[in-house]
Order: sequence, then structure tokens, then C-alpha cells
Amino acid sequence: MKILVCIKQVPDTTDIKWTENNTIQREGVESVINPFDVYALEEALKLKRSLENVEITALTMGPSQAVDMLKKAIAIGCDKGVLISDRKFAGADTYATGKTIAAAIKSKLSDFDLIICGQFAIDGDTAQTGPSIASHLEIPQITYVKDLDKCDGKCIYATREIEEGFETLRVNLPALVCVLKGTYEPTRPKINGIIKAQQANITVYSMEDIGLTPDDVGIKGSPTYVSKAFRPTNSRGECEICKDCDTLALKIKEFGGLNLSLIHI
Ligand code: FAD
Repeated sequence: MKILVCIKQVPDTTDIKWTENNTIQREGVESVINPFDVYALEEALKLKRSLENVEITALTMGPSQAVDMLKKAIAIGCDKGVLISDRKFAGADTYATGKTIAAAIKSKLSDFDLIICGQFAIDGDTAQTGPSIASHLEIPQITYVKDLDKCDGKCIYATREIEEGFETLRVNLPALVCVLKGTYEPTRPKINGIIKAQQANITVYSMEDIGLTPDDVGIKGSPTYVSKAFRPTNSRGECEICKDCDTLALKIKEFGGLNLSLIHI
């Protein structure tokens, strides 16, 4: 079984700065693997532990320094790393990102069975990339997945979070799932994983390699643009901190019930 895990590098900071094009300033900022994608990797590793002949490829679209993140993925148990990287990809919105990743999968990794994405990237936070990849590949998708329960190589069972609780769905492979953060401690790299990662060659694909043209990618291939980016003013000024549960309970009573848009725990 071949599993592709889409992982994204995100800035390791809450002090987000903007470029003059209203996109997030990524240069000169420390990066980490998107926390949701850590759990996407974990779900793949869980399948690898429970099934035979599972191969996991970590995949990212990003700048050349994303090689380090792919090597970390190999250190914790992935078999391969693939970087989709080209200066022409700069300025891609979620549509162009999904199209580019899907083109790389179609042209170079088409024998996959399962694609696992995180539900959100903590910087862009649109949750659109996974569904966009699935629709470009014309494969089924399950979002908000808490657990991949079992897999027989032909189909997979996924428990997903819904407003009323949870539901378990079965989907035929190939398919894509987007996973939520787990409540468990993620796998730490072991010494032999670190050695394997140091020796690993990361495959890099450019725009030409995956059969796209400048009109498909980057700003040109993006139907959306960011006209303005700003921090909301005085949103903190209107916030009241409840120091104990009794005060919080009183506030909830005052509001006449629980309104999660007003109360953040
Ligand atoms: P989500 O959709 O929330 O991510 C969900 C999941 O998809 C992730 O957990 C991960 O599994 C997967 N995923 C997301 N992105 C990737 C990736 N790159 N590789 C592998 N898996 C991934 N961003 C830039 O970095 N540089 C730019 O120049 C740039 N310009 C932009 C210009 C415009 C007009 C717009 C609208 C956006 C731009 N962005 C840019 C942001 C970029 O489009 C998004 O970061 C990207 O599409 C992913 O969306 P998201 O962050 O909302 O991820």
C-alpha cells in the first residue's frame, strides 16, 4: 500500500508579518512542520505498523529549505521525501497549490492508494488544499478525520468529527483524508531514523517536471488575490477574562446559554 502524506512548513511564530503583496512573510522566520500534518504522518505510521508492505512518502510544495522538514519526516518513519519546488510557484493561492500538488501526484506518484493531509495549516488556515487536491485528482475525500480505524487495502474506515458527535465512513481507495490533531504524543525520531534521514535523497520536481505551464501556477494560475491584510483592532479590548469556573458559569448564564463565538475556553 502506498501512502502519500502532504505536509507543509509553517512559520514558528505567532508574530506574523506581511509582505508588501499582503502575503505572509516567510523569509528569515524559523519554520516548523504544520501541527496537523504531524498527526497526518502519525496516521500513516499507524497504518504502517498494522499492515504489511506499506510505503510512506512525505510530500511538500515549498522552497528548497523544506528539504529539512522532509528529512524530519523520514527520521520519524517515512520512507521517502518529495519536494515540489520552483520559483514560478510563488504567490500560489489554494486553487493553484492544490492543482500543482495534484499534478505532481498524477505525473510522478500516480500509483498511490491513500493521500493523508492535515485538516488545516495554522498559517493560511483555509482547509481548502486537501479537498482541492482530491477534486483535481477526481478521487473521494473524507475531512475532519479523528481516526483511521481499519484498512483492508481496498477500502479504509475513517471516524470523522461532525457537529452532533462522530460518524464512521468507509471509502474505496484511492482516496484522500484530512485529519484533525490527535490527543496523543507524536512519535519521536529514533537514532536509526535520524541516520536514515541524513543519508536520504529528497526528490525535487520543478514545474516542467510535472507538466504544468506558467499559466497554471503561482500568481498567474491563482484565481484569487489578497487585496488587503490587517490585524483586527481592539478585538482584545472587548475581551473579559474569567479567572475561575464560577465566574465563567455566571457569564454563560448571563448570555442565556453557551455561545462559543463569545466564549473561548
Ligand atoms: P490548508 O488548506 O489549511 O492546509 C490543509 C492541509 O493541506 C495541510 O495540513 C497540508 O496537509 C496540506 N497542504 C497545504 N499546503 C501544502 C503544501 N504547500 N505542501 C504540501 N501540503 C500542503 N503562500 C506561500 O507560501 N507563498 C506565497 O507566495 C503565497 N502567495 C499567495 C498568494 C495569494 C493570492 C493567496 C491567496 C495565497 C498565497 N499563499 C502563499 C498562501 C498559499 O496559497 C497557502 O498557504 C496554500 O495554498 C495552502 O493553503 P492553507 O495555508 O490555507 O492550507
